[in-house]
Amino acid sequence: MSYKTVHAQSIQDPQTFWGEEAKHIHWEKPFDTVLDYSKPPFAHWFKGGLTNLCYNAVDRHLAQRGDQIALVAVSTETDIEKAYTFKELHAEVNRMAAILKANGVGKGDRVLIYMPMIAEASFAMLACARIGAIHSVVFGGFASHSLASRIEDATPKMIITAEAGMRGGKAVPYKPLLDEAIALSSYKPAKVLIVNRGLSEFVMVDGRDLDYTAERLAHLHAEVPVEWVDATHTSYILYTSGTTGKPKGVQRDTGGYAVALSSAMRLIFCGKPGETMFTTSDIGWVVGHSFIIYGPLINGTATIMYEGTPLRPDGGIWWSLVEKYKVSVMFSAPTAIRVLKKQDPAFLTKYDLSSLRTLFLAGEPLDEPTATWIHEAIGKPVVDNYWQTETGWPILAIQRGIEVMPHKFGSPGLPVFGYNMKLLDEATGEELGPDQKGVVAIEGPLPPGCMQTVWGDDARYVKTYWSTIPGKLIYSTFDWGIKDKDGYYFILGRTDDVINVAGHRLGTREIEESISSHANISEVAVVGIEDKLKGQVAIGFAIPKDASNVANLEAELMKTVDSQLGAVARPARVYIVTALPKTRSGKIVRRALQAVAEGRDPGDISTMEDQTVLAHIKTVIQESAKKA
Ligand code: AMP
Repeated sequence: MSYKTVHAQSIQDPQTFWGEEAKHIHWEKPFDTVLDYSKPPFAHWFKGGLTNLCYNAVDRHLAQRGDQIALVAVSTETDIEKAYTFKELHAEVNRMAAILKANGVGKGDRVLIYMPMIAEASFAMLACARIGAIHSVVFGGFASHSLASRIEDATPKMIITAEAGMRGGKAVPYKPLLDEAIALSSYKPAKVLIVNRGLSEFVMVDGRDLDYTAERLAHLHAEVPVEWVDATHTSYILYTSGTTGKPKGVQRDTGGYAVALSSAMRLIFCGKPGETMFTTSDIGWVVGHSFIIYGPLINGTATIMYEGTPLRPDGGIWWSLVEKYKVSVMFSAPTAIRVLKKQDPAFLTKYDLSSLRTLFLAGEPLDEPTATWIHEAIGKPVVDNYWQTETGWPILAIQRGIEVMPHKFGSPGLPVFGYNMKLLDEATGEELGPDQKGVVAIEGPLPPGCMQTVWGDDARYVKTYWSTIPGKLIYSTFDWGIKDKDGYYFILGRTDDVINVAGHRLGTREIEESISSHANISEVAVVGIEDKLKGQVAIGFAIPKDASNVANLEAELMKTVDSQLGAVARPARVYIVTALPKTRSGKIVRRALQAVAEGRDPGDISTMEDQTVLAHIKTVIQESAKKA
């Protein structure tokens, strides 16, 4: 069947399309209806069905491939490399599930996971799924304030962590940040389970903290039955940044997610059972949830969890893993490829990459030089794909498992099956024709696997995502785009104040709030500007309260962001200025700040209250460049 036919069927008759797709996962009890869309925009998939993500990812494969490798945990930071068969993974997940249960965690309880890329993190996620607990993984690069707001919102009964991560050969302590976050949070978890890697000293809190090694030994032979949950049962919450300082908890279901990932594995990523997939992301991001853990495993495909940089011990490390584990599907981000591009090209020809069929890249715009370079270097198809934390799996891609359509540079491709895409005029909500710029939107119902709601806040879900296009109840991606005459989409950047640094989404508002918390700051604006390596970086403009005391202010502000939000959110620069460009109604004109910081013409500034401010900002940037 052609792509066109499949896509059309998925939109015109979702009941039949997804009813067929659902046959690829295990249902303990079949569902009554494929789709209930009686209360738009809330789509409920596979109502009445009972299933379990952990069963589908692990137990289901035991009979056929119990002795095959399911998970390889590689750390080039600690030089530990360990492979787990499906049987071994099953045993570890049962032990972890037993620890959770012994400590009072049950169905529907939240468990926050704040961990580096170690095997135990995947045991923790799968163990939660096994017992119907809801996990919320927080990226290890986030610091105490970010963590505290997530603890408060998710109210986890238990937190699972490691005492430290490691980056570039240096230990990065996690436990003190977590202790600080718990102190900051008005909600306190009952228990904290700590995987002690022996990397850094830490203090155990009596009565609250548990040592994983001891707990695991106590439950070494545990067998914890799978908790069969409704298809609509929440499997996890994953926080993401938006235009307000308060992160949104993206809430995902169970049955729809399992079906969507199974379809994506077969029809987009073309991974086969018994093969190996290597996704270089982190479990703290959605790509990690879907294509390090659940997607490959549900498909019976082994997965590699990698702790380390792409450059240690040298720029060939990822390709050496492709050779060693006969990786057939690789999934990374454009930034990582741009990092590798600076390395000796010999690293790419040194290893046998014959097992590799396709390299997938996502998370940020893929520029043509990077795409061409990597395609020529490895001699494999490079497939861009576009999606969001909210959708959980690709929205736009060339779906090679359906039809190998031609690629167009700069385009992530065509709407994925299940997604009814529209390109709309922002002001009128009218549908646009070819080559006209508009907002990329998705007509409801969103397909299986997409977010169900904002955790604990249905109203915020409807208001944020479904109410921004005039006169229409339609999901906004908050991305600008263009569709060409062949239906290929081109993504042109965000419509909101969200920026994308090295494939990671950051809300400028959160960074502004952090900078403002410094005692000597009266006002601040943060914008994203173009960066050759990371795509975008954050730049701050801050007005001090006491202008005579600014000698170390920029460094102090960086430190403030580091300790509150984490190094991922640290701006590349914070310029100390005396004024910010504003409209007469007092709104900061970020687009002008961005233009000046990128060395571009700010365009029409007639609406600005004080036309001299931009000249002042330009001078500050130039002076500071001279000093550097
Ligand atoms: P996140 O939820 O952190 O994955 O960020 C999602 C955002 O990243 C999207 O709304 C886009 O702005 C951007 N993005 C993701 N994938 C791509 C891609 N392939 N091309 C262009 N932008 C992308």
